[in-house]
Amino acid sequence: MLPLSQQISSFFIFLSIILCLPYCFPARKVRDPEGKVKNIEIDSANLQRHSFSRLTHAGQGSRISGMSELKRYFHRFGYLPPQSGSNFTDEFDAELESAVATYQMRLGLQITRQLDPDTVLSLMSPRCGMKDKFPSSVHKKLFHVTRHYTFFQGMPRWERPQPVRLTYGFSPYHVIDKLSLDDVRAAFDRAFERWAQVIPVEFEESLDYETADVRIAFYLGDHGDGEPFDGVLGILGHSFSPEDGRLHLDGAEMWAVDFGTEPAPKAVDLESVATHEIGHILGLGHSSVKEAVMYPVLKPRTTKHDLALDDVEGVQTLYGSNPNYKLNSLSRQSETASNTAVSQWAMVPTELSVTISALVFALLGSSW
Ligand SMILES: [Zn+2]
Ligand SMILES: [Zn+2]
Repeated sequence: MLPLSQQISSFFIFLSIILCLPYCFPARKVRDPEGKVKNIEIDSANLQRHSFSRLTHAGQGSRISGMSELKRYFHRFGYLPPQSGSNFTDEFDAELESAVATYQMRLGLQITRQLDPDTVLSLMSPRCGMKDKFPSSVHKKLFHVTRHYTFFQGMPRWERPQPVRLTYGFSPYHVIDKLSLDDVRAAFDRAFERWAQVIPVEFEESLDYETADVRIAFYLGDHGDGEPFDGVLGILGHSFSPEDGRLHLDGAEMWAVDFGTEPAPKAVDLESVATHEIGHILGLGHSSVKEAVMYPVLKPRTTKHDLALDDVEGVQTLYGSNPNYKLNSLSRQSETASNTAVSQWAMVPTELSVTISALVFALLGSSW
C-alpha cells in the first residue's frame, strides 16, 4: 500500500493524463460527403498559432521572436499586402504599425499603434476571418462615415419583389453527427426569424437543397471554393454575398446548441454563428460595434443571438423596415455602444465574383 501522499500524487498524474488526452491526440468524428463517419486529426499547430501574449507592449522598433507570426496573421486577414506574405521578419516595422492601427480602428479598440494588452487580447480571441481590407478610394470616400455596420462592395442585396421571400435548405450529405438535424434546424430557424423580425424578408425552409436560395452545409477541409476549413477553432464557417446563397460551416467544430449539456471548453454556439452568417448572406459585412452580431470576434462558449441596433440599422438600409418592427425592442445598451464606438470603415471589398466571409476562431494556448 502506497503512502497517502503518493496515492494523491498518483491520482493527480492519472487525472492530468486523462484530461490531456483529447488535446494530445485530438480527433473528431465527422461524416464525409458520402455520409460515412470518419475520424479526422486536428491540426495541433492550428490550436496554438495565435498565442501572441509574448508580444504585449511591443511597438515600432521592437524585434521579438514570433512577430513574424503576427504579420502572417495580419496578412491572412488583409491588413498586410500580399507581396509581404512569404518573407516576414520579427521586426515591428512601420508597415506593421500601420496594420496594428487599422486593426484597432476596425475592432473598435483604442488606437495606440502598439500591441497594448487590449489589442493582444483581441488578436488572441476567436474572430471572423473575412479579409477586411478595402480599396483606399472607398476608404477615403467614406472617411467621415460614423456608422459601424458595413456592406459588401456595391451593396449587393437580394433583388426580389417586396416582401422578399427566400428559401433555405440543408445539405442532405454534408452534415454533422455532433448535433441532430432537428437541433440544427431549430437553431437556424431562430436565427432566420431574428432577421425576419426587423426587415420585410421572409424565410422558409425548403426540402430541396439544390434549388433553395440559401444552401447550408457542413464541410471539412478543402471543399472546392478556395476557402478550406481547418479543424477545431480554426475557420468556423463562411458565407457568400447576395445572391449567391452558400452558407458553409466547418464540420470539425464542436457545435453546440446548449452549453448546459455541452461541457467542451471549445464548444461553439451554432445559433450565434448562424445568425452572423445569415447577416453576410443578406449583404452585411462586419461591424466594429462589439455588441453587434456582425462584430468579427466571438469567444467560445458564449452566445450572441440578439441583433444590436447597429445590425438592425445596417440590414434595414438594404431592405427597409419590417412594418411590425418596434425600435424599442432593442436594448438601449446596444444603441449606446453604437454611438460611442470608433469606426471609419463602411465597405468591404469583393474578391472575384463574390466575397467570402469566414469565421475564424483562433485557439490561444490554455487561456480557455
Ligand atoms: Zn463574418
Ligand atoms: Zn465553403
